[in-house]
Parts: sequence; C-alpha cells; structure tokens
Amino acid sequence: MLRFLLLLLLLGFGFCLLYQNIHYPHLRQNPISERILAPFDQRIRYRIGEIDPRFGISPSEVEKLAVEATHIWQQAGGKDYFVYDPKAKLTIDLIYDERQLESNSRQQQLEYIESRQALWQQRHLQAEQLKQHIQALQQQLSQKRDDLNQATHLYNQQVQHLNARGGASAEQRFALQDQKLHLQQQQQRLTDQIATHNQKIQILNQEVSELNTLNAELSQEVSGFNARFSGKKFDKGLFNGRQIAIYEFSSKDDLRLTLAHEFGHALGLPHHDDPYGLMHPILQKQDATNFQLSPADLKLLLKQ
Ligand SMILES: [Zn+2]
Repeated sequence: MLRFLLLLLLLGFGFCLLYQNIHYPHLRQNPISERILAPFDQRIRYRIGEIDPRFGISPSEVEKLAVEATHIWQQAGGKDYFVYDPKAKLTIDLIYDERQLESNSRQQQLEYIESRQALWQQRHLQAEQLKQHIQALQQQLSQKRDDLNQATHLYNQQVQHLNARGGASAEQRFALQDQKLHLQQQQQRLTDQIATHNQKIQILNQEVSELNTLNAELSQEVSGFNARFSGKKFDKGLFNGRQIAIYEFSSKDDLRLTLAHEFGHALGLPHHDDPYGLMHPILQKQDATNFQLSPADLKLLLKQ
C-alpha cells in the first residue's frame, strides 16, 4: 500500500514536471524542489551570481537594476514573470573581458568629443559676439569719417572763399589755424581707431579660421567614433539556460536594458527586427532611460 502511494506520488510529481515542461518550458530554469513544491508558480527564479569588481558596481545595485528590468516585462504583461530567490538556479553574472574595455574606451572617447564640441560652441559664440561688436564699430567709424570729410570740405571752402576775397584778417587766420589743428587731431584719432579696428578684424579672421579647422577635426572624430562604435550588439549579454552573463555596459540604464533583453530570452523569446524594441539584436535606438516594450516585443510575449 505504501509503495503504491509512493508510486502515485512520484507519478504525480512526474506529471507535474511534464506538464510544466510542455506548457511552461522556461520554468526548467527553476530548481526541481521549487517546481514540485509550487507547481502553479510560473515565475522564473533568479539570483545574483558573480560580479567582477572591475565593473565598479555592487551586487545590490545589480539586483536593483535586475528587479527594474523584470518590471519592464511585468508592466507590459500584467503579471510577475520573475522573482528574486537566493536559492535560484539561474544566476546573473557580470564577466569582465575585452568587451568592457572596449566600452570604457568608447565612453572616454565620447566624453572627449563632447568636451571639444562644448569648447567649439563656446568659442563660436564669442566669435559671433566679436563680429557683431566689429560691425557696430565699423558703422561708427564710417560715420566719423564722413563727418570729418564734411568738416574738412567746409574748412577748405572757407579758405578758398577768404582767398578769393583777398586774404583773411589776423583774427580769421587765427581761427582757421585753430580749426585746422582740431581737424588734424580728429584725423589722427580716427586713423588710430581704424588701426585698432583692423587689428580686431584680424583677430576675428584668425579665430574663424581656427574654428573652421577645429570643426573639420571634430567632424572627422565623430565619423571615426561612429565607424568604430556604431550599434552595440547584444552579445554584450548572453542567456544560456543556466546563466545570464553580462560582458559589457556603458551605464546603469544600459545594464538594465541588457538584463531585460536577456530576461526576454529566459522567457523563451527570440529576436525580432524592430530596432526600437527590446528583443532587437542591437541596442542602439531604444530609449534606455524610460524604456517600454514595443508592439513587436508584446507580440512575442503574447505568443509565448
Ligand atoms: Zn539576444
């Protein structure tokens, strides 16, 4: 009788596992004990495994991001697909290799280019201000030159007029000399101002030519950067049935999205070709900060 009961129990467990394997194949990642003790719990159990300290992120931070990654699926599907369990078989491991080194140099280069772009913007703004200042000054100087020409012309007319009348009186000569001296002083001041103005124009021209060179360099740097780093394939993460291995990420947002992608594979989902969706093989166009599943992701989830 006891044997019969045991056999029945074993058959029951066996049936339970068989049923799960057919209907919820992804639950194979859970420990057998959990699958037998909680046969209707469809959540995948996971835990944090090895975190290489060179990533500079703590296991508790990874756990927090993993929970947030599971929320992406939970919010779209309306139920919990995953649960953190320190006894889980499925582990999340951060493995440091050349991929992260490459990611670090990408980040460094990006920061370098951005700082150079900011510098260019600042210098460009200053050059624009200098240009406006020079244009305003140019108008003032033209006006002064016209006024001075006019005054010189009047002076010459006066001299001609007096000469035609047989010469000037001592008092008139004295006034004319004073006027002439004043005109000469004005002319000298204007000449000095024009020289200073021309120096400013030279400085502006020099700056504009330096800015053009810098701009050309920046364009080259940006296209070099794009050629080297365009589109990061999701081989930065890998789900192999027992483990979610992460090899590279550039920020916490990036890590959260990569984890969510690998969780999608853990649910049994394949890739699709919507570049804005989570299950696209390349992480590039997705909104990493406020990510929500795309219709292509939802279609896969509902099929599953
Ligand atoms: Zn993938």
